[in-house]
Amino acid sequence: MKPGNRFRLPQLPIAFSLVLCLSLIACGGSKPAGAPEPAAASAPVASASDFSSLPADPGPPPSIDSARALQYTRQIVAFGARPVGSANHSRLEEYIYAHLKGDLVVDDLFTADTPEGKFPVRNIVAKFPGTKDGIIVIAGHYDTNYPLRNTGYVGANDGGSSTALLLELANQLRGKKRDGYSVWLLWTDGEEALKQWTDTDSVYGARHLAELWQNDGTLKQIKAFLLADMIGDADLNIDRDAYSTPWLEDLVYQAATRLGYQSHFFGRQNAVGDDHAPFMQRGVPCADLIDFDYGYNNIFWHTPQDTVDKLSPQSMEIVGSVILETVRMLDSK
Ligand SMILES: [Zn+2]
Repeated sequence: MKPGNRFRLPQLPIAFSLVLCLSLIACGGSKPAGAPEPAAASAPVASASDFSSLPADPGPPPSIDSARALQYTRQIVAFGARPVGSANHSRLEEYIYAHLKGDLVVDDLFTADTPEGKFPVRNIVAKFPGTKDGIIVIAGHYDTNYPLRNTGYVGANDGGSSTALLLELANQLRGKKRDGYSVWLLWTDGEEALKQWTDTDSVYGARHLAELWQNDGTLKQIKAFLLADMIGDADLNIDRDAYSTPWLEDLVYQAATRLGYQSHFFGRQNAVGDDHAPFMQRGVPCADLIDFDYGYNNIFWHTPQDTVDKLSPQSMEIVGSVILETVRMLDSK
């Protein structure tokens, strides 16, 4: 992710911010690079109110092993910088595979043409089958910033936290019969720009996979695409992203409220170009769960100060359990 792609809105009430944001887009010229076009007409129709009749307490609230999730983050960060094409990136791929032993794992490997040359890019998908017809994708990128690769940058929050959270979600999903939709965990690659964030220099893996899944019919099966990015910040405030699907964000908020975590969600409005963009463009309902205020004014983002000491297991617990609760609410519908 990079500055300029993500523009920050002033801290305003959500309704006003949304109007402001949409008018910025409508004016043209102000639309940040990477911003998705309006969703295609084929988008599945649902609204958060469709879920309001669900029982208040459908079972024990979901939880994750947050200490283990943070330990994964530490181990991932210990590899060092993990940009596409690097030896550390390959080591991290092996680390992810080693933690998915016995799971149904597929990858999507291709060569990306970038402003810095050609690079291998590999999306990794772990599939946990369910009894219901349809797929919920939970995604997060595992590559780290390329331009900062020789600065001591390790991407603990940006790249590390989401990679680790997905590994812990795999632990929660493994070995249980899913009485609901299939859940696919997706470690995206090449999310970061090689030079400067534009529509063509960003989200390489997500763009490739969205096209692949459109062509093979998978996309039509996807009921929701939940993206986690920069979710480890000890001061956790997940933005409400104007480029995500409103009904799905409403559902995430309902899930957070059920768990008592709503104060960490959507106090701020933002508009974020991220891995969900190519899926939004193709009509998939998406929610980008990102805390794009990492240190005051996002001061640690894309700096060598993005280190594990800024993160907390509690933040990973909050996002992990809210994602699982959202999946459970989607299942119940
Ligand atoms: Zn980034």
